[in-house]
Amino acid sequence: MDQPLAAAEQHAEIREEVAKLCARFPGEYWRKLDEVRGYPTEFVQALTEAGYLAALIPEEYGGAGLPLSAAAAILETVHAFGCNGAACHAQMYIMGTILRHGSPAQKGDYLPKIADGALRLQAFGVTEPTSGTDTTSLRTFARREGDRYVVNGQKVWTSRAEHSDLMLLLARTTPKEQVAKRTEGLSTFIIDMRAALGNGLTIRPIRTMMNHNTCEIFFDNMIVPAENLVGEEGRGFRYILDGMNAERLLIASESIGDARWFTEKSVAYARERVVFSRPIGQNQGIQFPIARAYAQWRAAELLLHEGLARFEAGLHCGEQANMAKLLAAEAAWAAAEACIQTHGGFAFAEEYDIERKYRECRLYQVAPISTNLILSYVAEHVLGLPRSY
Ligand SMILES: Cc1cc2nc3c(=O)[nH]c(=O)nc-3n(C[C@H](O)[C@H](O)[C@H](O)COP(=O)(O)OP(=O)(O)OC[C@H]3O[C@@H](n4cnc5c(N)ncnc54)[C@H](O)[C@@H]3O)c2cc1C
Repeated sequence: MDQPLAAAEQHAEIREEVAKLCARFPGEYWRKLDEVRGYPTEFVQALTEAGYLAALIPEEYGGAGLPLSAAAAILETVHAFGCNGAACHAQMYIMGTILRHGSPAQKGDYLPKIADGALRLQAFGVTEPTSGTDTTSLRTFARREGDRYVVNGQKVWTSRAEHSDLMLLLARTTPKEQVAKRTEGLSTFIIDMRAALGNGLTIRPIRTMMNHNTCEIFFDNMIVPAENLVGEEGRGFRYILDGMNAERLLIASESIGDARWFTEKSVAYARERVVFSRPIGQNQGIQFPIARAYAQWRAAELLLHEGLARFEAGLHCGEQANMAKLLAAEAAWAAAEACIQTHGGFAFAEEYDIERKYRECRLYQVAPISTNLILSYVAEHVLGLPRSY
């Protein structure tokens, strides 16, 4: 299987080094954690120490100052080698909101510590149980009282909350009824979760079908110093939107990694498994789903690389980022389906890791944004069709 030319030339060394790191965390490591829904502390530590989670932080703040395509190469490789970046991928990109919109003091205080791993910023509190995808209808409210805000409300699906020191929180600061546009009146805050826990902040983990530390969060008169507001009050939704293309491109790269993992596994097994005195891979019924999924993810990969190139050139990339995420997640699922079918009954045995990866890769058709909402974006913003919601 070839790499796209641009990717192979650009980040071959990074891919090689990340692959070596991943070899230290084989399927057995992930299987044991999966059983107890444990957090991959050692894996995250290894990525942190190698500087990979600080790839996007500029050198002046202690990071590697690498382009987005390098971060994509890191996450793709993590997934292609059977590991799972979901435990820590957000440490790479949530800090982008502080980098782009934070004050000099916030940047100086937080970014170097995020870069060296002293502070983990990997919790991102946006989704709420009642508003769901309709983000601007969220109800968590931050009321200004002098030099502080008092926060009340609830979030759901706040991933890694138990393994993060800081959280980036999106809350209303002006009621929806009092703003001209529903995207106004939302603000972004840096929450020191260590200080807030037990002081107005409660975290409740949700057990999910895969090992993905995700939680419900409750705010009950939680105090946030006004200096923790990022940028201007009321402009938080814009700030969050600014980071979404990077997030989508990085998630797409993880799905491409998953697709590669499933395909390599399918091909190897289809070659070696002999039934009716011939390798099962000789049957077109086995070949075609693997080949079709391969064609699907290679196409998604091209779109991903176009999105990354546009992002790095400072061009609009919403179309490419959204479509790459949609197609890569679907292609990973197609490759996963083919892998299950190719392995027959053995696909269901935990020791093959297929059922685990199958559960893990399904998420990306729903989060961080679901397929329907991407299709709505393409319909409205790319094709000029009327807004549907
Ligand atoms: C494991 C996991 C981790 C997550 N991590 C985080 C996190 O760290 N931080 C965070 O803030 N969120 C997180 N999320 C939330 C995730 O982003 C949302 O689940 C996702 O955006 C969908 O929102 P929802 O679940 O509320 O679905 P809903 O908004 O209730 O939608 C349900 C279904 O209806 C569809 N739908 C809704 N409206 C329309 C429409 N107008 N047109 C067509 N279809 C529509 C949706 O596409 C979806 O398929 C996570 C979710 C999961 C499951």
